[in-house]
Amino acid sequence: MSGSFSLAIHGGAGVLTRSRMTPEREAATNDALDRVLATGEAVLSRDGSAVDAVTAAVCALEDEPMFNAGRGAVFTRDGHQEMDAAIMDGRACRAGAVAGLFGPQNPILAARAVMETTDHVLMIGQGALDVVRAAGLTFREADYFFTQGRWDALQRTLKMEREGALDDDPSRRHGTVGAVARDRSGALAAATSTGGMTAKRSGRIGDSPVIGAGTFADDATCAISATGDGEVYLRLCVAHEIAARMRLAGQSLEQAAGGVILTDLGAAGGSGGLIGVDRDGAVTLPFNCDGMYRGWSVEGQDRGTAIY
Ligand code: ASP
Repeated sequence: MSGSFSLAIHGGAGVLTRSRMTPEREAATNDALDRVLATGEAVLSRDGSAVDAVTAAVCALEDEPMFNAGRGAVFTRDGHQEMDAAIMDGRACRAGAVAGLFGPQNPILAARAVMETTDHVLMIGQGALDVVRAAGLTFREADYFFTQGRWDALQRTLKMEREGALDDDPSRRHGTVGAVARDRSGALAAATSTGGMTAKRSGRIGDSPVIGAGTFADDATCAISATGDGEVYLRLCVAHEIAARMRLAGQSLEQAAGGVILTDLGAAGGSGGLIGVDRDGAVTLPFNCDGMYRGWSVEGQDRGTAIY
């Protein structure tokens, strides 16, 4: 597959259960995934870089209010939105990430600004906002990020907590967006962005912005973007574990990602999924729950979107 591109995107493993999904909503979701895929493909088909393709795809996902990242991010238990994002360029394993941020329209561009304009990898708070401002990125007010659906989900979750009746509906617990790509030169990149988990404590940071947990890319092995129970992904160092199994045990991407997601994640009490691409352009999209909003495009071979 040398010389061809591959791209995969996800809109989170927090899918609506089949019983609550309507044909209209399913069609709208697949349309949105298709548009995002086309955004990334447009970069790669012009011989653009993997890092530009994942940036473009994740910006499009962040701007789409149906997904939990950027506009449409979930609320913390005290009614705020705190966003996490990370990007990694597999060429020299450079990375940038932000956590607990509110204000930038596209948290993934904030993460990229950390990668490209500072000596650091992970930034929070005022320092991170200063980097975003210096990079000239767009800021938005609270009403831009607000969606009634996410607000209602917070109220339902808090009510269930008060009544001691918290369910494990994945569409309430999960959500995140991400993209991985291999460009025509063979370079890999990964990007992940999230509002985190509904009703999380203020200051809680998940796996998405932690390099090696929810996001990882190394041209020698693979690029990974994860979605699911962040605390379990953090403890298992999911994304790096997959790269390590490929590098040290000679496993294929499919074997390594399948072993971590289909065996280890559940054994550790977690649910979710991930998207991955290896240095030859092979794509994998495993999940251990009801579904994962996802799309994939392997140049000249295969293209599609799916939910369940
Ligand atoms: N992994 C994300 C987090 O823990 C949430 C998700 O992907 O569902 O913040």
